[in-house]
Amino acid sequence: GQCTLYCPSGALQEIDQTKKFIKILEENKKLIVVALAPSARISMSELFGQEPGELTTGQCVHLLKLLGFHKIFDLQFFADLTIVEEANELVERLTDPKSKFPMFTSCCPSWINLVEKKFPEFIPNISTCRSPQQMFGSVIKNIYSKTVRKKPKDIFCVTIVPCTSKKQELLREEFINPETGVKDIDLSLTVREIGRLINRQKNIFSELTERSFDKPFSVSSSSGSLFSSSGGVMESAIKTAFSIYNNGTFKKTERTINLNTDQKKSKKLKKSKNGRVNGNGNGNGNGNENGNKDKNINHKSNKIINHKTKILNNIKLDESFSKPLRKNINIKETTVQINDKLTIKIAAVSGGKTIQKLLKQIKKGNYKAHFIEVMACPGGCIGGGGQPRSELNIVPIRKKSLYKREKTMKIKTAHDNPVIQTLYKNIFKTPNSKLSRKYLHTSYQKQIIKNNHKKTEKIKNKSKNR
Ligand code: SF4
Repeated sequence: GQCTLYCPSGALQEIDQTKKFIKILEENKKLIVVALAPSARISMSELFGQEPGELTTGQCVHLLKLLGFHKIFDLQFFADLTIVEEANELVERLTDPKSKFPMFTSCCPSWINLVEKKFPEFIPNISTCRSPQQMFGSVIKNIYSKTVRKKPKDIFCVTIVPCTSKKQELLREEFINPETGVKDIDLSLTVREIGRLINRQKNIFSELTERSFDKPFSVSSSSGSLFSSSGGVMESAIKTAFSIYNNGTFKKTERTINLNTDQKKSKKLKKSKNGRVNGNGNGNGNGNENGNKDKNINHKSNKIINHKTKILNNIKLDESFSKPLRKNINIKETTVQINDKLTIKIAAVSGGKTIQKLLKQIKKGNYKAHFIEVMACPGGCIGGGGQPRSELNIVPIRKKSLYKREKTMKIKTAHDNPVIQTLYKNIFKTPNSKLSRKYLHTSYQKQIIKNNHKKTEKIKNKSKNR
């Protein structure tokens, strides 16, 4: 049934779509373009019975080449693109008195589904940025297609993801060209489905060498890689927002933000006068790395630490900001001093039950923040429903491997990615330009479920309504 496709926790098995890929491959009529998601490259080694991260990114690229994909791009590049647009949107909201807060991230389709179905009043709060998958599809079909002189219908766009919900996201009408009926993304395959494709080829593992992603979408920053893990999207966006806010352009920032600091350390940071980090965390680093069960709630140390933030500029957070939440919700949060005049509160939550509890508290006015990252799977995509199954508590091991790899990456912020800079210089000009709104942003709709027929009611979430 339908639900088997979209279960974010992976409790149910997704529909196997590998046959669709094999058919296109055998027909040999289309250019098959694929992008590899950040956390998929970490878990791919598990398909061969190895520890997370043992297969290098270069080996993953070679694996995809051996499986028959023609062009292999880095989805982390499109995560960088998402960050730049999203950070710009945050800055816009912070400078517009009519803005709705908190602003929520938009890259998790299960989260978007939840809001559209159960909490439509929050639709104006969601970032209008498309997810990295959908930015990839749009850029490939609308821009890259011209470079390679192909019609969009002659390109078959695939993503390799940790997520079953991405299969549904690509079917949204917003991501289908209304004139041609061509979808931006044709297929998304989970890491488990890649496992099935591997099984068709003998000895593929022994053949693996180091290969690079194809140009031009081959370069990414460590910010893009952090999309895999709860808190990473927001951390990355804030670094870029900080740069935009203070410099007006994308200038390099040395700023570091640590959402996983323990309480004592956070207090120290809070006292520091340099204005770099005003940290405050819940001390357990989200404490929810099980990957199977949602343990966010009722965890010993999961109280939100409340603290007052200066109310500055147009951001009016009233006194209820400091009221304790009625129930414990595991949330990572911190305040960030953007500059002398502006300090904002940011947070990250993951796991379905946690999210719903938090939304109820926000509705009651018990919790206020400027920017909240939301991921449906506990711990974020690294524990996604399309990841390989494991007997172990695998999510913390994947996360460790991710951060180890992230440390080695040379470009630290999305806006410092030279290919991102070129893309803006040559195509989009600036974030939120007319063209970037057309190709990189979207809108959301209230969904009414009645007698198994999905009815939708448009609630446009365009920048003018923010
Ligand atoms: Fe998919 Fe990631 Fe959302 Fe899970 S958290 S549903 S893997 S996008």
